[in-house]
Amino acid sequence: MSSDDACDCVVIGAGLSGLVAARDLRRAGLRVLVLEASPRIGGRMQRTRLECDAWIDLGGQWVGATQDRMQALLDACAITRFASPHVGRTVLHFDAQRYEFSGFFQGFPEGDAPAIDAAHWQDAMNAWQRFDALAQSLHGEYPHQNAHALKLDACSLAQWIDANTSTPFARWYFEYMSRAVGFLGPAEPHEVSLLHALWGQKSAPQAEHPEAQLMHGGAGQVPALIAAELDEVIRVDEPVVSIRERGDALQITSTRATYRSAHAIIAMPPCNAARIVFDPPLSSARQLLGAQMRMGRCAKVLLSYSTPWWREHGLSGLAMGNRPCIELVADSSDPSMSTGVLAAFVVGDRYARWIALAAPARRDAVLDDLAQYFGASARHPTSYHEVDWPQEPWIGGAFAGFMPPRAWTECGDALRVPHGRVHWAGTEIAPRWAGFFDGAVRTGEDAGRAVIDLHRASSHAKGKLF
Ligand SMILES: Cc1cc2nc3c(=O)[nH]c(=O)nc-3n(C[C@H](O)[C@H](O)[C@H](O)COP(=O)(O)OP(=O)(O)OC[C@H]3O[C@@H](n4cnc5c(N)ncnc54)[C@H](O)[C@@H]3O)c2cc1C
Repeated sequence: MSSDDACDCVVIGAGLSGLVAARDLRRAGLRVLVLEASPRIGGRMQRTRLECDAWIDLGGQWVGATQDRMQALLDACAITRFASPHVGRTVLHFDAQRYEFSGFFQGFPEGDAPAIDAAHWQDAMNAWQRFDALAQSLHGEYPHQNAHALKLDACSLAQWIDANTSTPFARWYFEYMSRAVGFLGPAEPHEVSLLHALWGQKSAPQAEHPEAQLMHGGAGQVPALIAAELDEVIRVDEPVVSIRERGDALQITSTRATYRSAHAIIAMPPCNAARIVFDPPLSSARQLLGAQMRMGRCAKVLLSYSTPWWREHGLSGLAMGNRPCIELVADSSDPSMSTGVLAAFVVGDRYARWIALAAPARRDAVLDDLAQYFGASARHPTSYHEVDWPQEPWIGGAFAGFMPPRAWTECGDALRVPHGRVHWAGTEIAPRWAGFFDGAVRTGEDAGRAVIDLHRASSHAKGKLF
């Protein structure tokens, strides 16, 4: 398609949500163009191959059994899944003490608990019960539509933690959940609205185990499989800078060309969409949303070893704790390969301190923490990859965007309302599994369906067949 041809819809952003929307539009017979700012498609879904032939996911990797839109997509792509490896004991490292236990915790613990002071453990569990009860009191598609939402949105998660915990372990437990769990950004507790945190627990519950499965070949293979249906309509290295409504069409200008299109789908986090100039301008609430929603500060570090040696020590490869750098690490080894892979996360204020170090010091900090969790063998990986997501110019963070206090009540209504001929997609606006792959697939499907309906209605009105 040349820049002079009009198309039915331009999809802006070739992450998972944009690719799903474009695929559906194409299948419905619409003329589609996809414009992607970066030199590669996939957004937060990326993989790379190691010398030993194993794939590692640099972005998202896990999927849960109840994430039905993502599960359906994986089935359609013939991507098989395996249970996230969890054979052996979990490690907790808290205040310089190391504990091994048979269960794990993200939300309510499952299996045996670590042998920390019983009163401290109980304090955390009681607080989690209150947190979950409050989360379950929220109803509807979005949290700010609840009568008591204003009060919950006015405070930060940190304020709730202060009022509901009395021991250092319970406090850290919630701080860890805030920094390590997908629905929260991740964010430091003082950065995030209590309402946002509760909504995550309701609409993307840890109890449904969103980290239960991994994909053979990695999640990062998905974008290319969807794009195989779209290849000649995707243009990379072409950031969109402005969208102007002119008569009955949009004028969409990238750094390379201007395109005419009946509709557009913007498939990215609201804070990134805010960098595009709109004429007419976006509503004040949508502008506020773009300014308020923040991306999580998180780097992912992937280490591979010739074997998953930690299993020989009876360890599952899952560890968490208040170490200076790595608060969460998980075994991500594909059972069809002999290679052992650990995925570790550096988040929030820890990320800010760590990224300021020189590369060798960063690596030492990661290896020091892993050695504390698993033993000295962790110091000798065969490969080491750091992915600094906040520095990615067209992404700006990981895992996803989150709302600071008052943002839901001030601009939550603007999350999905189209701006004339411009529609929105992207995991951040999903009513369920926001922040996850599944949320991206849902919003891509929804935005595609909305544009297809409008296109058909206007074709009918003009008496055209399609
Ligand atoms: C480290 C990490 C770990 C994660 N772990 C998991 C996990 O285990 N399980 C899970 O379900 N989810 C996980 N996620 C989240 C998951 O990856 C995302 O929810 C999903 O990939 C988001 O897709 P998207 O299409 O909404 O947005 P994106 O992937 O961000 O796509 C947006 C696209 O828009 C492009 N763009 C931005 N501005 C412009 C512009 N002006 N013009 C044109 N293009 C533009 C960007 O380059 C990008 O390609 C993780 C993410 C990260 C980074």
